[in-house]
Amino acid sequence: MSDGQTITCDALVVGGGIAGLQSALDLADQDFSVVIIEKDLSIGGKMIRLSKVFPTLDCASCITTPKMSSAAHHKNITIYTWCDLKQLTSDNGRVRARITQKPRYVDEDKCIGCRKCEYACPVYTPDPEQGGFCATKAVRIPFSNAIPQVAVLDPESCMLCGKCEKVCPTGAIDYFQKPVDLTIEATTAVLATGFEMTTIEGKPQYGNGNVPNVITSLQMERLLAPHGPYNRVLRPSDGMEPDSIAFVQCAGSRDKSMGIPYCSRFCCMYAIKQAMLLSGSLPLADIIIYYMDIRAFGKGYEQFYQTAKAMGIMFVKGKVGRIEGTDNNSVAVQYEAQDGSGVTTENHDLVILSLGVYPHWSPEGICSVSTGSDHFIQTVQPSIAPTMTDSQGIFVAGAAAGPKDIVDSISEAGAAAMEASNYIIAQGK
Ligand SMILES: Cc1cc2nc3c(=O)[nH]c(=O)nc-3n(C[C@H](O)[C@H](O)[C@H](O)COP(=O)(O)OP(=O)(O)OC[C@H]3O[C@@H](n4cnc5c(N)ncnc54)[C@H](O)[C@@H]3O)c2cc1C
Repeated sequence: MSDGQTITCDALVVGGGIAGLQSALDLADQDFSVVIIEKDLSIGGKMIRLSKVFPTLDCASCITTPKMSSAAHHKNITIYTWCDLKQLTSDNGRVRARITQKPRYVDEDKCIGCRKCEYACPVYTPDPEQGGFCATKAVRIPFSNAIPQVAVLDPESCMLCGKCEKVCPTGAIDYFQKPVDLTIEATTAVLATGFEMTTIEGKPQYGNGNVPNVITSLQMERLLAPHGPYNRVLRPSDGMEPDSIAFVQCAGSRDKSMGIPYCSRFCCMYAIKQAMLLSGSLPLADIIIYYMDIRAFGKGYEQFYQTAKAMGIMFVKGKVGRIEGTDNNSVAVQYEAQDGSGVTTENHDLVILSLGVYPHWSPEGICSVSTGSDHFIQTVQPSIAPTMTDSQGIFVAGAAAGPKDIVDSISEAGAAAMEASNYIIAQGK
């Protein structure tokens, strides 16, 4: 491990999803110097992985990529990706972060993103960025609009054949790259670490991930994306065009057995969005949403829900109790409808689980900010200061404080940037 350098800036933003990018841009536009640290290989968070966004049905990457690019090219913003935050302390008006930047085995300064290494690599591995539905290479650019456009070599899959090193025009492949330690000293920090989804394996009643053609909502986003794995919606087990598609809501949230008793807030809306997009690409398919309650809380959301009903998407109020595979690769969904018709089993070609949402990052042992009973970052005065944590000079934005849609994440990110900028000024900048 190399001895680290110390970087000084006005504001540190932890997490380069849409909330972190918005906070960073708002602070940088006020002429504060900002460092973004991102755990992943690219900034953009979940939003850059979506197909379209409710309620406008705008193309997600068309509206996220310009924000990512503005942050990457902003004179006041420096971005470090592939980082592990080891410690974050706040003391006497200064915030100090210890970070380890993991090796990509590709020199970031030399890589020009030409992908020659990727084309030459003979090792195929499932592509995590396409829901595992298609293959990528052991050395690759993470995805086509990743920022930075720097390749990464996966040491688990690489067989050290040397082909990437031979074709790289800039000599960027470095099999011996080591982790780099960095210290960032700032006046303030914004935590924008977002959320993660529970795994499909978590619930035995839903097949524990062993039923073919039961997929997650993020996998569905990839199937619907214009640059998705198949360029159309096909069911993964056999490439058949599905005729009957079901969404199972609260398949991990509002469920004490999964440790997530709270509502994940955006699942109703993204299921309705995905159902609408599916009815566009598969107009003859039957689409059903099994739900407990539809929570269409935001501006224009109720209208979005009513439009989906008018489009012929079926809504069945009932809790799904069991999901099983059938002999012909279909999925049997057993549910109890709330209309009193009792327990019913319906077969579908493809089933999408709206899994639970939990915090992507826990401050435990790293930073002294408190979390609530839901484990998301706690804000001290949620009604009047929703971005303020109990650690001086550290603010929170987006889904790091609780499940939140994009509109609310962006508004909160602006508020966190404002609080952070006031704090910097109060510290005498
Ligand atoms: C299937 C699906 C579809 C959706 N569709 C829509 C939609 O159509 N419209 C809508 O409004 N909302 C939608 N949402 C919700 C939307 O994804 C969130 O509102 C949004 O992603 C929240 O942004 P964020 O920046 O707070 O969190 P995230 O997008 O989770 O970004 C957090 C970032 O922080 C990084 N990070 C985490 N921990 C660390 C750490 N310790 N150090 C450094 N970096 C870290 C992560 O790698 C990530 O890049 C959808 C969600 C899902 C799951």
